[in-house]
Amino acid sequence: ESKAPGSMSDLEIALKATLRPIEEIAAEAGIPPEALELYGRFKAKIDPAKLTPRPGKAPGKVVLVSAMSPTPAGEGKSTTTVGLADSLARAGHKVMIALREPSLGPVLGMKGGATGGGYSQVLPMDEINLHFTGDFHAITAANNALMALVDNHIFQGNELGIDPRRMTFKRVMDMNDRSLREVVIGLGGPVQGVPRQDGFDITVASEIMAVFCLARNLADLRERLGRITFGYRYDRSPVTVADLGIQGALALLLKDAIKPNLVQTIAGTPALVHGGPFANIAHGCNSLIATETARQLADIVVTEAGFGADLGAEKFMDIKARIGDVAPSAVVVVATIRALKMHGGVPREQLTEPNAEALAAGVENLRRHLHNVEKFGITPVVAINRFGSDSAAELDWLLDWCAREGVQAAVADVWGRGGGGDGGDELAAKVAAAVASPSSFRHLYPLELSVEGKIRTIAQEIYGADGVEFSVPAQRRLADIRRNGWAGLPVCMAKTQYSFTDDATVLGAPKGFTIHVRDLIPKTGAGFIVALTGAVMTMPGLPKEPAAMRMDVDADGNAVGLF
Ligand code: ADP
Repeated sequence: ESKAPGSMSDLEIALKATLRPIEEIAAEAGIPPEALELYGRFKAKIDPAKLTPRPGKAPGKVVLVSAMSPTPAGEGKSTTTVGLADSLARAGHKVMIALREPSLGPVLGMKGGATGGGYSQVLPMDEINLHFTGDFHAITAANNALMALVDNHIFQGNELGIDPRRMTFKRVMDMNDRSLREVVIGLGGPVQGVPRQDGFDITVASEIMAVFCLARNLADLRERLGRITFGYRYDRSPVTVADLGIQGALALLLKDAIKPNLVQTIAGTPALVHGGPFANIAHGCNSLIATETARQLADIVVTEAGFGADLGAEKFMDIKARIGDVAPSAVVVVATIRALKMHGGVPREQLTEPNAEALAAGVENLRRHLHNVEKFGITPVVAINRFGSDSAAELDWLLDWCAREGVQAAVADVWGRGGGGDGGDELAAKVAAAVASPSSFRHLYPLELSVEGKIRTIAQEIYGADGVEFSVPAQRRLADIRRNGWAGLPVCMAKTQYSFTDDATVLGAPKGFTIHVRDLIPKTGAGFIVALTGAVMTMPGLPKEPAAMRMDVDADGNAVGLF
């Protein structure tokens, strides 16, 4: 459990903060009352169709917050995103945040929230981390409606010839529940359905979540839902939602959820918190609609992509920024002294002790991420997220290293002092300068390249691999993908976030390794091909002592012990 100065937990800090009515935040952000749909006093949905472009203003510039390869505790991307936006607002910029919504499963399990930390949080953090405005419940319902309609189709005679043994879609629940990973449904005789092996994924792993986050508007959402391949026919041809003719019903279930949610930070900066796809089998950033809406309202939009820059930033550039007009003007790479030491070979329990040699060795990990950002035509800015255990000498050494490399960098203490305080002023100034300077964004690969070629390009250019090995099933999939006309889709890599390799234990900036592609999953609705390296868990389990055991609610309805 993280403790901020004064030893208050994230929740205690959040509950002490004074929230302003969301109408006030909206008015300041330039959102007219007719575009605002209130969900209580501190949350509202925004109808993008009811916004008018700001006269004489170009859409806001995008700042993407990413990170070096993280430690299991997280390096503070969400915290830095919130604190940086608060600091930019403090410096007089018109700013808006676009962030992912947290998934309930990990909240009850262990990970902690996704609403920032310390004095850099979005509020009301308890509600955002629990049910919020019900978006994930709506996505769960849409996913499970699809599955109910598919199984009903099979039960009613299976006109489409769906092969129940070749379903690629599962039911979902927004919970960590390992006992639902594999189930058998339809037991009990002829009137109870057709038995088949099924399973549950966590809601954030649903392709409907990825579709939701990549749709440009409601009509595009409906189109993309129709393109989802949920399985194969007996003749091995793919079968889609449009074949069943239910994309309209699924879009209807999502018509309110698809509107972005407006909340505020502790410092009162407006934030759109909307959508939250997995960062491995999906692209790991908030909805495109939220990012584009924020661009319409503010001069600078600060947003985040999941995992390290090898995964989150690459997918942002090659997937999200191909569909929408959201190419970043600056990329912030969050680094921490403890992560650098870990990449320099220091064991986890000794990360708070000074170790100059490990720092110098571990910085190679950061160097590779910085070079990668430059491959997209964007100049990176390093945000050194300051922890209490960092010594002045260590921080100075890292600032010096960045200066020698010619990279802009600043120490940020937005967790401890808040972006609304002076903890992020220097970072904000450097980011504002980067945003104002010219950048020449480019994708890493052209879509015309084969799927195999795209994977090799990412592995060699971004990870630093020598090559890629495709398993026999993966090679078969590559042939299927060509046959089905999907070869023009971008690739979504599912790889461990802890290493540039596909082995989580190989830290630093390794060389001379091979990336192993185990399987490929076409996500034809979202519009990308997932390349699986290593095992990916799409339904997590709970730890021995789940975070839920510390949670409570007092007699007045206040949350207790939520991080
Ligand atoms: P990420 O987005 O990279 O996963 P978060 O911003 O969610 O990381 O932070 C992960 C956890 O670390 C949170 O509990 C947060 O409060 C804590 N944290 C972040 N920055 C700091 C810091 N500088 N000092 C102490 N704790 C921090």
